[in-house]
Amino acid sequence: MDLFEYQARDMFEAHGVPVLPAAVVTEAGEAAAAAEQVGAASGGVVVVKAQVKTGGRGKAGGVKLAKSPEEAVEAAGAILGMDIKGHTVHRVMVAQGAKIAQEYYFSILLDRANRSLLAMCSKEGGMEIEQLAVERPEALAKVPVDANTGIDDAKATEILETAGFTAEEQPALVPVLKQLWDVYAGEDATLVEVNPLVKTEDGAVIALDGKVTLDGNAEFRHADHAALEDKDATDPLEAAAKEKDLNYVKLDGSVGIIGNGAGLVMSTLDVVAYAGEEFPGSPKPANFLDIGGGASAEVMSNGLHIILGDEQVKSVFVNVFGGITSCDAVANGIVGALKNLGDAATKPLVVRLDGNNVEEGRQILADFGHPLVTIEETMDGAARRAAELAAAAN
Ligand code: GDP
Ligand code: MN
Repeated sequence: MDLFEYQARDMFEAHGVPVLPAAVVTEAGEAAAAAEQVGAASGGVVVVKAQVKTGGRGKAGGVKLAKSPEEAVEAAGAILGMDIKGHTVHRVMVAQGAKIAQEYYFSILLDRANRSLLAMCSKEGGMEIEQLAVERPEALAKVPVDANTGIDDAKATEILETAGFTAEEQPALVPVLKQLWDVYAGEDATLVEVNPLVKTEDGAVIALDGKVTLDGNAEFRHADHAALEDKDATDPLEAAAKEKDLNYVKLDGSVGIIGNGAGLVMSTLDVVAYAGEEFPGSPKPANFLDIGGGASAEVMSNGLHIILGDEQVKSVFVNVFGGITSCDAVANGIVGALKNLGDAATKPLVVRLDGNNVEEGRQILADFGHPLVTIEETMDGAARRAAELAAAAN
């Protein structure tokens, strides 16, 4: 999960990383009071910043300096509603203005290719780091970090030396690098990036921007991270699926897919997309949904509910290879879900069962005899049928 800048800022503050006072507002008018409050110690100067999960906000006009509460309102009005690289601005952060003397770059990230953590640091921050990495790679220090020891005094010094900081410049930066490590390790992040990390005219070091990506695999040990989720941006179907612990990803097509095992579901997506090319409008998969190995009737029923709740879905393909999951359990799940839905079930279902208890499973569906359910013997045949039904519904 990626955080908004203001969330990263709060997280930094909680770990002792120096940041500036700031407030978040959603209405331009609210920026006046915010500016008065956070700008009190900076002669009324504040920075109004778009809160969107993409970089380059400065260049896009999403970061504006304001010298009075009136200017802050004006800036907030200009920025709210702005589209930055496809992200609409719903919130702005009003932050105390800083007198910047130097802009640096610092990040800690998971270097998957080298199976290590990596710290990156540069005396030339502010600009887009990708550009710096290409144009002047020697100006960007890359130092591996051992996850067990992290960034201590010695590692921080090594990073700063490699980046070309002088002995006089290092002492102010060492504690900040250690605090940022504390954020990375303590919050189970996979990325902590500060661009710019600034030195102000009076010599203080401050994280002026923050980008944090949290590791979703560690969410079980961070109950507080759930509150950081951007509920507005999450697809409602994906949110509902997550609540039921379903492995669901919304896609753009019209054929709903349910299968057991990620590999089977992925190949089902391919087969459906391929079969769809034969029919008008080329129907495509509407989602990925893996009900897992030991899927019960209840899981099947939950999955069907999610998929049938998707307006774009015109037909559903249930593709199950019974292993740990027996086909009769899956068939009972389908029957249960359809009974639950009653008249709300209006979309055709194509079911292909194979493997453990396949005969019992097919028999349960045949006995149920629901007019919307078609049983197919093969995966290809079922994919064709589901695509055909989706095309016919358009
Ligand atoms: P980004 O463009 O999305 O990375 O947004 P940043 O938060 O990094 O802001 C872009 C640039 O605005 C920074 O590199 C700074 O040069 C400038 N900036 C941000 N905050 C302040 C501030 O408090 N005072 C001044 N003078 N400039 C700022
Ligand atoms: Mn930045």
